Amino acid sequence: MQFLGCKVSHVDAHEVREALLADGHVESEAAEIAVVNTCCVTNEAVAKSRKAAARAARTHRRVYVTGCGASLAGHAFAGLPDNVVVVARRSEATPAFVAGDVGAIGCVQADARLDRVRAFVKVQDGCSFSCNFCVIPLVRGASRSRPAAAVLAEIARRVEQGHREVVLTGINLGCYRDRDGGYDLPRLVRVAGETPGLERLRLSSIEINHVNDALVDALRETPAVSRHLHVPLQSGDDGVLRAMGRRYSAATFLRRLAPLRDEFNLTSDVIVGFPAEDERAFANTLRVARDAGLTKLHVFPYSPRPGTLTEHDDPVAPAVKRERGARLRELSKDACRARWRTKIGCEDLVLVDRPGRGYGDDYSPWLVDAPVGEFVRVRGEAITEEGIRAA
Ligand code: SF4
Repeated sequence: MQFLGCKVSHVDAHEVREALLADGHVESEAAEIAVVNTCCVTNEAVAKSRKAAARAARTHRRVYVTGCGASLAGHAFAGLPDNVVVVARRSEATPAFVAGDVGAIGCVQADARLDRVRAFVKVQDGCSFSCNFCVIPLVRGASRSRPAAAVLAEIARRVEQGHREVVLTGINLGCYRDRDGGYDLPRLVRVAGETPGLERLRLSSIEINHVNDALVDALRETPAVSRHLHVPLQSGDDGVLRAMGRRYSAATFLRRLAPLRDEFNLTSDVIVGFPAEDERAFANTLRVARDAGLTKLHVFPYSPRPGTLTEHDDPVAPAVKRERGARLRELSKDACRARWRTKIGCEDLVLVDRPGRGYGDDYSPWLVDAPVGEFVRVRGEAITEEGIRAA
């Protein structure tokens, strides 16, 4: 099983894995069947997905290509060998399709643990916004939410399986609604935070339009909530934001994050080289990223996606995109180091998620020497290129 892409894609891949395990199959390096869950957010992601599928086709009897890349209009996976099956279905329908096509070899009521220390729990899928550059609504469809009872039951199950941290995951989390159960995202956060045994709760990402008083209060007042929030900026220039169809201004972005900035570690996504972005517009993005107190920035060079409004528009030269990307990454590095420096001499609770590494309460990276899966109380000694070194 291989997956590319975002947290939601990871959950999708795991759902296919769970369906196959429940049918009696086992994971193995020398498996007959491979599942490649693909991403299509950039041209590069599609190319990587295609390469992964082609590679898997050489070493497996059958390969299922699932996820956003498989649902993308066009022929990203055309011409691959006959043992590759492209599953262009909604995420909800994919596990049953793959499991049915492979066929059960037993009936094992396996309770498959997720393959990571933290558990990503999908609460919402799809998006009903229509940002002009984004292909996600086309491949994932409109926003829909899982019933809160199902979400809360899954969180309880993940905690029982030994996961100490849960990340509520969705494509556009702020759209979360369970009308019958009377839940929106703030209420879900509060109730999920009370799950017995849950030590840390985070949101995968939230649009600034949904960062309102009710959500800010829920995040602040729920003790299990990690002091970290990922809020995509995409651009800090009003003209570019309008051209992107993002439905907020730079001033709104700054105003809505202001109540969180001292307490929370704020991270973000930025697109560089969008068609309307000139030097002045880019300078606005640098300014807003700095003024909002953003630390880690995921920088994406703009690439036109099929079926979107800006599909045929890409006037900014690749070298300019690279140069702007490098400047933003420099800003991000400085901001991270400044935040990490404040941890020297202070204590933090770190969840060790890989050998030698883990994340503190605000999702700052730490270098620690402790068993994977454990929470350890540490004190900052120094900062390195990769994070805060524990004493
Ligand atoms: S909010 Fe915009 S960028 Fe995010 S998934 Fe929806 S359309 Fe795409």
